[in-house]
Amino acid sequence: MPPQAARSTDDGGADEDAPDLDQLTDEIKQVGLANGATVVGVASASAFNEYVPAGHRPTDFMPGARSVVVAGTPGPSNAAWQSPNRRLMEITGYDFRENVATLVMAEHIETRHGYQAMQAPPLPTSGENPPLSMMLAAVLAGLGTRAIAANIILNPQYGLLYYAATLTTMPLRPDHQLEDNVCPARSCVRMYEMEGRTPCMAVCPADEGGCIDATIENGRITSSFFNRERCATRSMNFGLKGHIKQVELLVDTDDIEERKRILYSDEFRRNLAGVGRFKESVAQCFECMRVCPVGRYRRKLK
Ligand code: SF4
Ligand code: SF4
Repeated sequence: MPPQAARSTDDGGADEDAPDLDQLTDEIKQVGLANGATVVGVASASAFNEYVPAGHRPTDFMPGARSVVVAGTPGPSNAAWQSPNRRLMEITGYDFRENVATLVMAEHIETRHGYQAMQAPPLPTSGENPPLSMMLAAVLAGLGTRAIAANIILNPQYGLLYYAATLTTMPLRPDHQLEDNVCPARSCVRMYEMEGRTPCMAVCPADEGGCIDATIENGRITSSFFNRERCATRSMNFGLKGHIKQVELLVDTDDIEERKRILYSDEFRRNLAGVGRFKESVAQCFECMRVCPVGRYRRKLK
């Protein structure tokens, strides 16, 4: 019989042999780390209630959910960030190991511990918003905090990570949210004090046609602006959104030659490849993260 969390004996006393919550939590985390995750954290399912409305909470997808186990991975390798061919970043390293790790953890929880577990739904089924926010999950699991650059959740050790999660009815020990904001980094505060901009603001300034702006006082973000729509038109031109744009062009024109030009274009092929394989050209701009100092020291290799 698989071990259970918080097991009691018939007379109500504690079962000496039952693994405690810390042990069980560490066991699940180790499963995630051994199966592709770079970091794993745990949030309590009820912690979401304070931040998101009904319909976007773990219990909306799994009644009785108690824990959310979050896995993060860095995507492209450190060398890919340094490649002189910037487009390499679009197409390498997106093997979604964080999703594999969350599936393996879910299977482990179900088969070894007998609790319900499943991958959290991270992608929109309609509209722009995901059913469950992986960004919020990462923050609640103590894996990072929100950055000025593109609202990304920055991990203090690794910087930009991609996140996925497992929902489960299994009680686990939640991690604490990070006490200190990862962003702005100390060097960014110094640059802001001298130039009025941080590296990410300098590379994509909202007041010069870019997407990012913020104010910082006493080392803390006091206001932050991110033009998500403008960023999407620059960084997400291939894949589902690009495909929809091209279908609109196709239905809007009666010119048969123009239709053929669109259909046989490189962009049309790339969009379809992105939709079909969810792999090619995940994004076309990483510049705000390329200049971000958080985790950059890890990219220095021989
Ligand atoms: S991804 Fe590119 S376009 Fe979007 S905010 Fe960052 S630098 Fe700007
Ligand atoms: S460059 Fe600095 S200010 Fe911008 S996201 Fe990174 S840490 Fe934050």
